[in-house]
Amino acid sequence: GILDSLKIMKRFENQVAIVTGAGRGIGEAIASRLAAEGAKIAVVSRTEANSQKTADALNASAPDTARPYAVDVADFDAVQKTGAQILADFGRADVLVNNAGITRDTLTMRMTSEDWDLVIDTNLKGAFNFTRAVLRTMVKQRSGRIINIGSVSGLLGLAGQANYAASKAGLAGLTKTLARELAGRGITANVIAPGFIETDMTASLSDAIKEGALAQIPQNRMGAGADIAAAVAFLASAEAAYITGQVLAVDGGMSM
Ligand code: NDP
Repeated sequence: GILDSLKIMKRFENQVAIVTGAGRGIGEAIASRLAAEGAKIAVVSRTEANSQKTADALNASAPDTARPYAVDVADFDAVQKTGAQILADFGRADVLVNNAGITRDTLTMRMTSEDWDLVIDTNLKGAFNFTRAVLRTMVKQRSGRIINIGSVSGLLGLAGQANYAASKAGLAGLTKTLARELAGRGITANVIAPGFIETDMTASLSDAIKEGALAQIPQNRMGAGADIAAAVAFLASAEAAYITGQVLAVDGGMSM
């Protein structure tokens, strides 16, 4: 994989990264990339089992790298508590990756109020909730990196994803606002918009939908979690200090 073929830099030694949705999929890939570059990781997932699994794997590669936290990112009060616990455990917060996300796809004509709220509350409000929990600390540190995981769906709109596309487009507005509010405090905020990535989220799609999606991708293949993790690591690094308020598509050309 990418990690083996690169001479991995250690850009995040003495830094703490919080990655939500790190129990599997893209978030797990992001957590392992940042850990490989020396970061300590707060592994946040909805379930105890998956947050523990990823933390165990990271600690097996490098002892005392990761701690697991199980929380529903959509729950403001619970997230403030988890954020406070992470800050108590690690003492600082350098990188926040708001990656936790879900889909509840259906045509707008059939979409229920519950389908709408659950996706917006998880994908969009979840990013606000975690940002709110660590922002004061980043402002005091006068440094920080906030990276929100959007989607090509938020850039293009995709049939069946009114709730999801709105949540991901909303993340761009949140992120650009954070970028402006925090520009003078050494904190950057950016969105990475993945295209079609091989995870549980896409595994459940029908073959017809997968073939339709591939036809829209100039590179004609799906991406891997590691492709997203590489872009996250760049935006989280000191080298990306002058990049803020951007939406970077990592999608094999799908959204250009
Ligand atoms: P997966 O479904 O594979 O994993 C989702 C992760 O998010 C899991 O770790 C899950 O926790 C966690 N999660 C879900 N809901 C909550 C919640 N309410 N509170 C806390 N954690 C939660 O998704 P992907 O890895 O595919 O997607 C990751 C991100 O990338 C999402 O934001 C998604 O929208 C985005 N994305 C994905 C694309 C793709 O093609 N896969 C394309 C574009 C964007 P647990 O494991 O504990 O259940």
